[in-house]
Amino acid sequence: MAEENFKKNSYNFMNITRKDFKYRDIQERIRDYKNIYLDYTEDFIKSQASRCQDCGIPFCHGFGCPLSNLIPDFNDAVYKGQWKDALNILHSTSNFPEITGIVCPALCEEACTLNFGMEPVTIKNIELAIIEKGFENGWILPEPPKKRTGKKIAVIGSGPAGLVIAQNLNRQGHTVVVFEKDDRIGGFLRYGIPDFKMEKYIIDRRIEQMKMEGIEFNTDVNAGDDISVNLLKKSYDVIVLTVGSREPRDLLLEGRGFNGIHFAVEYLKQSNKSVAKDEIPHSELITAKNKKVIVIGGGDTGADCIGTARRQGAKEIYQLEILPKPPESRSSDTPWPMYAKKLRNSSSHLEGCERRWNILTKKFFGENINAKGILGVSVEWFEKDNKMDFKEIPGTEFSLNADLILLAMGFVHPEHSKLLLDMGVEFDIKGNIKTDSFGYGMTSVERVFAAGDAVRGASLVVWAFAHARDLSNVINDYLK
Ligand SMILES: Cc1cc2nc3c(=O)[nH]c(=O)nc-3n(C[C@H](O)[C@H](O)[C@H](O)COP(=O)(O)OP(=O)(O)OC[C@H]3O[C@@H](n4cnc5c(N)ncnc54)[C@H](O)[C@@H]3O)c2cc1C
Ligand code: SF4
Repeated sequence: MAEENFKKNSYNFMNITRKDFKYRDIQERIRDYKNIYLDYTEDFIKSQASRCQDCGIPFCHGFGCPLSNLIPDFNDAVYKGQWKDALNILHSTSNFPEITGIVCPALCEEACTLNFGMEPVTIKNIELAIIEKGFENGWILPEPPKKRTGKKIAVIGSGPAGLVIAQNLNRQGHTVVVFEKDDRIGGFLRYGIPDFKMEKYIIDRRIEQMKMEGIEFNTDVNAGDDISVNLLKKSYDVIVLTVGSREPRDLLLEGRGFNGIHFAVEYLKQSNKSVAKDEIPHSELITAKNKKVIVIGGGDTGADCIGTARRQGAKEIYQLEILPKPPESRSSDTPWPMYAKKLRNSSSHLEGCERRWNILTKKFFGENINAKGILGVSVEWFEKDNKMDFKEIPGTEFSLNADLILLAMGFVHPEHSKLLLDMGVEFDIKGNIKTDSFGYGMTSVERVFAAGDAVRGASLVVWAFAHARDLSNVINDYLK
């Protein structure tokens, strides 16, 4: 059916096929760090929105989306061309839909009723189209509070969780000051996620809006050091810790001290700074140019390293994962409407790399002071006492040469920095900040709250947004 002359009827999900945004050509996109997607038309989005069946029990928002975005409602408004209504519906549950519209793994689409044997609605793309329409038309304006309550709040950390808390509490009339130890605002949105996945003007235009709403941002301030915990406690009624989960998981094997072995976030942060035209001293430069690169860790951060290394001109790229290769389609232990365990290829994977599964790295080897590769072995997984365990497969030992080795194995917990230690907050068994029983409230220290990855452990932007939105209501009630 042509997109231009579709009508909404209850068979649209069969008449109109799911179509995702298309990627730019690989050879073109690996020459820059710009958005990897091609433009779309309004009719394209409307026809995709018309596939939504407005079903009785929308698992997409009740079960799938952590923000409980009102998906069938905004789909219907989009189909009818009521973009401003769609925007209001979207903003009623989400502060920054343009960010989830780009980087969210679309948990909602997994739970879409059409995903039960058919193709889900392209909810994430529709979300992005709505919010971009809002920006294009100048509908996204500062919303400063009508009056101030006189209460002062310090938000420590300007990642997704900190930004949502700051915006909500400021709009509720409290005076909000954000402290960020990096030189720019955004947390991993700024210095983790590469520009080709999300260009940084997306953050900057929101920061402008938030400044106009009255929020004060202080960068290059390492709270706990540059401003003491005592001073914070004296100056603010409430302190919110949104410091992220940033202690990277290390691989303390023989040879770890060679040059050329780096944590993924160190590499990605530097690359994002270069893209932002910051000068990187030659002695500190980490580049994949003309190098063989090994990325250890099969997740999304690893994929971001691959896309970055490809753009820097890497010769060969390998991604090694200790876990088995996931099945090509939904595994039986993750039935609908759960998020499916299945093989996923990111845009970076499509740009060229070799992925290997069931690989255990045994040691790093090098020449003089420089890393030259890894020794690895294949493993096989088995179940023991209801837990998965692995053993090495004899005779499968191998060596793989590389000049740059990136460790992308996730994060163990928030850094137990001077800030957290001086603050005296308790940690849970995993080393995350412990909050009251539902994980949505105060830390063990009166007037000190925490949200996002610092509480939940390394997770997703959408979870940080949802946690922060709910916590801002808790704090607002507390201040009353
Ligand atoms: C490379 C990479 C790619 C990712 N890609 C995706 C993706 O595509 N989709 C997705 O949903 N999620 C993704 N994630 C995960 C997502 O970015 C995080 O879950 C999210 O950013 C967590 O938000 P947060 O606000 O809790 O913490 P963070 O984003 O980690 O922000 C914490 C902030 O606190 C600051 N801070 C810490 N201590 C102090 C202090 N003492 N004083 C002042 N400031 C301090 C830090 O500098 C940082 O800016 C990715 C993560 C990484 C690392
Ligand atoms: S935030 Fe994520 S899960 Fe929620 S509607 Fe958007 S894409 Fe779906």
